[in-house]
Amino acid sequence: NAHINNLNIEIEEKTKKHPCFNGCASNSARIHLPVAPRCNIQCNYCVRKFDCPNESRPGVTTKVLTPEEAFEKYKIVKSKIDNLNVVGIAGPGDALANFEETKETLKLIRDYDKNITFCLSTNGLMLPKYANELCDLGVSHVTVTINAVDVKIGAKIYQYVHYNGLKFEGESAAAILLANQLSGLRILVGRGVICKVNIVTLKGINDKHIPDIVKKVKDIGCYITNIMPFIKVKGSKFENLEPVSNKEVNIIRKECADIMKQMYHCVQCRADAIGTLDQDKSIEFEIDKKNNIK
Ligand code: SF4
Ligand code: SF4
Repeated sequence: NAHINNLNIEIEEKTKKHPCFNGCASNSARIHLPVAPRCNIQCNYCVRKFDCPNESRPGVTTKVLTPEEAFEKYKIVKSKIDNLNVVGIAGPGDALANFEETKETLKLIRDYDKNITFCLSTNGLMLPKYANELCDLGVSHVTVTINAVDVKIGAKIYQYVHYNGLKFEGESAAAILLANQLSGLRILVGRGVICKVNIVTLKGINDKHIPDIVKKVKDIGCYITNIMPFIKVKGSKFENLEPVSNKEVNIIRKECADIMKQMYHCVQCRADAIGTLDQDKSIEFEIDKKNNIK
């Protein structure tokens, strides 16, 4: 019907202007608002005193903002950057492990700006619970990090999962996480949300398994996968794991390009990144100096 058609056209337009979903939108800017400090799982490549490496460069720490502070920051940035098209919630922990803060931030901005694109990244554990509400809030683009679609492999990547008040480990943890990631994605795709799946390449653990992940999420109807290199974080369980080279990552991406659309230009931003994908730091510094927002 006409309403759904209009919605699809609107989302298509938004996708064209989203620098992470369209490599050609490199002059389009986004802002990440760091309102989500907590996490509900433990990936073996992560140390929680830094930003979530599922979406960000590890090794940096972001100052967390309240929803009100985030809204103020958004208004200042919007008034200074003409091509600001996307607001993302990407940590520093998991957006949905801090759902109240994420929701409040998006509501404040949506009341002020009807058109800006809402994007969110998550480990996916709480997606089945919140997917519908995210759609109702106007989130049109979601990124889920899925590092395995086989629980035996997943058990090597995740130390634990906190779910429904209980702590799960090993294959139980991996199975709960995977089931929720996949059903969450199905709900989002069913509601017309454009879904990206981030995959961290872990040598000897999931590198050979990546095409299986890509096939699975393609079958569900995801739009693009973003196969990322693993970056070592000191103090993490994987601190001695040998990283894959960019060349190796590109070989896997090329192989997977036969399956579905690939992202080649992810710069692994911070949870508080501002600007186009290549100009974060300078703009951020200017804003910090002038407005004293950190
Ligand atoms: Fe760290 Fe992100 Fe994994 Fe949470 S989801 S443990 S913040 S990498
Ligand atoms: Fe886009 Fe990658 Fe940055 Fe996320 S981390 S905003 S996918 S460039």
